[in-house]
Amino acid sequence: MTDKPKTAADGGPHPRTKAIHHGTRRSQYGEMAEALFLTQGFVYDSAEQAEARFVQSGPDEFIYARYGNPTSRMFEDRMAALEGTEDAFATASGMAAVNGALFSMCSPDDHVVAARAMFGSCLYILDLLMKFGVEVTLVDGTDADQWRKAIRPGTRAVFFESVSNPGLEVIDLQAVSDLAHAAGALVIVDNVFATPVFSRAVELGADVVIYSATKHIDGGGRALAGVICGSRDYIRKTVEPYLKHTGGAISPFHSWIMLNGLTTMDLRVRAQAEAALSIAQALQHHPELSRVIYPGLPDHPQHDLAMAQMGSGGTMLALEVKGDKEAAFRALDRLRIISISNNLGDARSIVTHPATTTHQRLTDDVKAQLGITPGLMRLSVGLEDTQDLIADLRQALEG
Ligand SMILES: *Cc1c(COP(=O)(O)O)cnc(C)c1O
Repeated sequence: MTDKPKTAADGGPHPRTKAIHHGTRRSQYGEMAEALFLTQGFVYDSAEQAEARFVQSGPDEFIYARYGNPTSRMFEDRMAALEGTEDAFATASGMAAVNGALFSMCSPDDHVVAARAMFGSCLYILDLLMKFGVEVTLVDGTDADQWRKAIRPGTRAVFFESVSNPGLEVIDLQAVSDLAHAAGALVIVDNVFATPVFSRAVELGADVVIYSATKHIDGGGRALAGVICGSRDYIRKTVEPYLKHTGGAISPFHSWIMLNGLTTMDLRVRAQAEAALSIAQALQHHPELSRVIYPGLPDHPQHDLAMAQMGSGGTMLALEVKGDKEAAFRALDRLRIISISNNLGDARSIVTHPATTTHQRLTDDVKAQLGITPGLMRLSVGLEDTQDLIADLRQALEG
């Protein structure tokens, strides 16, 4: 794994500068903004050139958009530079990235250890791996002992969300990475809630970092995309062959949208996180709420870890309404500014009822285990005026 620092400690540009400039490839026209190469294929000067390119294509040689495309390559290079990995592969969605990262490297009889608190579709991928003969052990991701017991010599990979969706449990990246590396396992992190802005995942031991770019990277709720960041070897020899032949490629148009999203990501995410903290503090003792879960609040069980690992509580919080599903629905239906939807990281604030939507597929037992109660609402804080958001939540709760 590369140890390329994310910060400017080496005198290189800061992440915010990289997010705007890194990896730009200009055509002969010298265009200012990144060009959108909306083309599925590329023309060869000769049959010999086509043959040579299929044997070994150079960094500026492309074959077919399912394999790679100049606009997508700019997005991949920029994400790798931001995350501090050698390379990256962009995908059609965050789930194509999770699928690609895990399925490309696993064989029957491999052993994978994963945290139980996870996005519903990520759990679905783990079920699929089991169906194809991979042994999967699920653990409580916040319990170091459970990781220690589950990881064994020969374990192929560990997989977890660094901050879980929707329960906002924070996993100790360094501790789990140390255990995994001692056993020879690859550390694969779904880092969506941490965002690239607050990520120190590689520095703390992650080998592979996955984002659903649909979320904070786009930031405008426009397009689906995902990205897998990792070593050159893993990306080009393991992930790329799998994804280029199974069809999880990103659209060049979506890469272009994501490049645009990256230019404002740092400003957006920091403002959203600041607003999330203000909202958490304002509603912390609200009489209609039994819990306000936000890693940036000192009463969060992993508050110190969150601060050390991300330097922020992030842009997401969870509010538990006192009472049942009906009480939660009444509050949701009264919201005027905040939309009921299921995206996150958008400039528009969004509230989700995980038990009946994103995590509906889980059994009641698993929901209870993960804290996905009937009263739980997940809030993705947007860029509206913070006081307006607090007022909207108050009026909805107080009805
Ligand atoms: C949204 C999300 C995904 C899936 O991303 P898509 O772009 O919707 O496919 C995976 N993991 C987490 C934690 C997410 O929030």
